[in-house]
Amino acid sequence: MNSRVRVVRGLMAVLVGAGALALPAAATAAPGEPRFTAGAAGAGDAYFPFTGNGGYNVEHYDLDITYTPPQSAPAPIVGQLDGVATISLVAAQDLDRFNLDLRGLEVQAVTVDGKAASEVTPPAPGEEVEGAAYWHVQDDVARVWELTIQPRPKIKKGQQVQVVVRYGGETTRPVDIEGALYGWVTTRDGAMVVGEPEGSMTWYPVSDHQTDKATYDFQITVPEGKVAVANGLPAQDPITANGWTTWYWDAPDQQASYLTTASIGDYDLRFSETDDGLPIIDAVDDNLTPANAAVTEASLALQADMIAFLEEAFGPYPFNSYGSIVDDDTVGYALETQTRPVYSRVARESTVAHELAHQWFGNAVSPERWQDIWLNEGWASYAQWLWTESSGGDSAQANFDAVMEIPADDPFWAVVVADPGPLGLFLDPIYDRGAATLHALRVKVGDEDFFAAAQEWLTRYNDATGTTEDFEAVYEEVSGQDLDAFFDVWLRTPSKPTAW
Ligand SMILES: [Zn+2]
Repeated sequence: MNSRVRVVRGLMAVLVGAGALALPAAATAAPGEPRFTAGAAGAGDAYFPFTGNGGYNVEHYDLDITYTPPQSAPAPIVGQLDGVATISLVAAQDLDRFNLDLRGLEVQAVTVDGKAASEVTPPAPGEEVEGAAYWHVQDDVARVWELTIQPRPKIKKGQQVQVVVRYGGETTRPVDIEGALYGWVTTRDGAMVVGEPEGSMTWYPVSDHQTDKATYDFQITVPEGKVAVANGLPAQDPITANGWTTWYWDAPDQQASYLTTASIGDYDLRFSETDDGLPIIDAVDDNLTPANAAVTEASLALQADMIAFLEEAFGPYPFNSYGSIVDDDTVGYALETQTRPVYSRVARESTVAHELAHQWFGNAVSPERWQDIWLNEGWASYAQWLWTESSGGDSAQANFDAVMEIPADDPFWAVVVADPGPLGLFLDPIYDRGAATLHALRVKVGDEDFFAAAQEWLTRYNDATGTTEDFEAVYEEVSGQDLDAFFDVWLRTPSKPTAW
């Protein structure tokens, strides 16, 4: 994501509400206890306890979505989404029941390996439920959205099953914990879909945490004339019949749920490729202002050069395709959705470099916990510095010096970069102090070790997740230096670094 200014409100209500609900413990069968137990309702992320789920790993999502955008003004900005999600998952424990995350939409039917479950009212804690069943809890105040599925027969550890959820409802404009638009953001001409950190549950049933990466297929049916763009490559040409067009996309690379998109609008689609043959697919809204359209076209024309530049620094581009979606909307920020970042109103050159760098830092290697988000934003911001320097602008050192000119008593320095809290994910220091940390690290270990360690980090944790501690270990290993004091000063001390 690029930097954004955000409103903080209702924090205590949110946190107290979430804390009041106890998470079921991740269960392992002890002697005398039931062998089949419930998967946890969360992936274990301290910032978002009910995000993601335990007890299984998803291998693949097949999302078949039909979407009707809002009517013209003055009709409300409300869309209609109907979906069938076919989810292939493998049990990581003997499962009596398991959860998916789904927010704001209603479930109409659930099957597990073809066996239907019946909808029941949510049982009280400890209350038994007979037979194959499902229930859906949606608590907007506590920010708990959990679809629980009780399959029958029960699922054995290691068993692969196919879960089909038929669901749908009206779509609006959901907001995250800070009050910023995210998820399936309904727009007048379609939808701008940007799910960080846990907004993908607003448009499909999902284990909505990056520790459970999966592959994706999309079939998106929209009124004829609308364009639907998702991750990856077209699986086939769109098919139009009876006033509807179905778009097919295939994303075979491992992908975190927050990086999923299926944006819909009045897009002009362009296909090109890099000198190395990497496909680039851009979708640019017809309705950008002329000034924004001109800036956007100039920036997107640099994508192939930027890919070559970042490959030189960080190794091969990690996915099967690239490109951008530029939507005319009010979301106000860009997101590095995998293989195809989404931009709001305009794609500026520096932001394009930022979202591209995320394909390595954030997407190929994702933060294991949301507290590790500086690993995304620090790197993407540092890549902006590198790109700017390479294209004749300020040097990385000059950008570092500018950060260090911020006075020591400025609140900028009071943020603990490696643990900023759930409302601090997108604060300026995550970006700028994060980038300054990397520059200081580069000076400390030298260029050769700095870039070698970056590539080692990207190789070791590719298609997976890593923590700040994992990152530190790679740099200590490659450089042979003890960097504990360095990282404590830069990442864990809420004051301006003076010596490191
Ligand atoms: Zn970013």
